[in-house]
Amino acid sequence: MRVPAFIPLAVPNITEDEVQAVLAAVRSGWVSTSGPDVKAFEENLAATTGAVDAVAVAAGTMGLHLALVALGVGVGDAVLTAGYTFAATANAICHAGAEPIFLDIRASDWTLSPDAVEAYLAEKCERVGDRLVIRDLGLRVGAIMPVYTNGHPADMDRFSAIGRAWGVPIVADAAAAIGARYKGRDLAGLAELTVFSFNGNKTITSGGGGAVVSTDAALAARVRHLATTARVGADYDHDVVGFNYRITNLEAALGNAQLKRLGDFVARKREIHRAYSEGFADLGGFGAFPLAEDVESAHWFAGIVIPEDVSWCVGDLISGLNARQIGVRSFWKPMQHQGSFASRPARAHDGPLVETERLWRRVLPLPCSTSLTDEDLVYVIATVREVVGELSRRVTAPA
Ligand SMILES: *Cc1c(COP(=O)(O)O)cnc(C)c1O
Repeated sequence: MRVPAFIPLAVPNITEDEVQAVLAAVRSGWVSTSGPDVKAFEENLAATTGAVDAVAVAAGTMGLHLALVALGVGVGDAVLTAGYTFAATANAICHAGAEPIFLDIRASDWTLSPDAVEAYLAEKCERVGDRLVIRDLGLRVGAIMPVYTNGHPADMDRFSAIGRAWGVPIVADAAAAIGARYKGRDLAGLAELTVFSFNGNKTITSGGGGAVVSTDAALAARVRHLATTARVGADYDHDVVGFNYRITNLEAALGNAQLKRLGDFVARKREIHRAYSEGFADLGGFGAFPLAEDVESAHWFAGIVIPEDVSWCVGDLISGLNARQIGVRSFWKPMQHQGSFASRPARAHDGPLVETERLWRRVLPLPCSTSLTDEDLVYVIATVREVVGELSRRVTAPA
């Protein structure tokens, strides 16, 4: 088999359309945080996600931070979220002044377990007046933040019911999920606020960027107000402490040109997911990245799950693939293992996250750029099989 040039894990798919869109934005003079491309990007994002309004921001992390502040989450509050996520989820909770509570995922789709959240609320929380308080920590539960792992929506019917029953708002970290659907429904209606990222390795990119979408016009207006220094009127009047978190018109021009290609991108991501799911199905014990039946995932990353009982280590597979021109690296290390949250009061509060611990070291994303060719896919699948075969033989052969 012909060895191709290096195949990266996930890189942007940029064409002349994006180049021209950015050039036109530069030439127009609208280079900063307002302009026609910001407006068009927001309108198209709202239409794509079924929102009444979309607020484009400079990063997904900023969107998560703003969402929490807009819902009144701050010092003295806790946010229930998945331990299995990217650090940005938990960082944003801390930026808001709140404490992240890391709960388990479910094995079936790697998203925050509604059972774990319900059990936590029932066992550890109590009502004090109109506040829902974590007994041992004295913190109010300010929000629940499910993460759409790899662009796969969490079980949002369950979370809506939990949110209603306990009076807690839901903020979805849908950073990698633009283009996904849940039970045939658009994403914006599934949570009070839903946040996307358009960082360079996400499915569509604006360079850096993100958005907060909602079906609640007043809440979205509050996010927009906070994002733009909370200015009231044309003079220098500000009613609360605001942020300068807006996307620039240059970034929005790029993002908007990318958004036009979202359908093709997600279709290609779906094909890549299918190719990897089928390409290793006959290898005993190897698993695919999950996909629930009633969900259309955005399939941000796809790859393989290494069996629990192999005698070689995942690092050996990674270096074997890197040596053969395939760009892979390990995936998320859970938040409960991060030094950045070690001193947080909630860190040692709950028991071990059983499903997270069972899973995280075994997840290996494979190259999944939307520009990946069929030839690349065939090469990646054949090479993974070859390296796995070599590793298995190496350790089982007598010394
Ligand atoms: C990418 C990502 C973010 C952060 O987005 P940025 O735009 O990089 O700030 C947050 N959460 C998850 C789950 C992500 O994958």
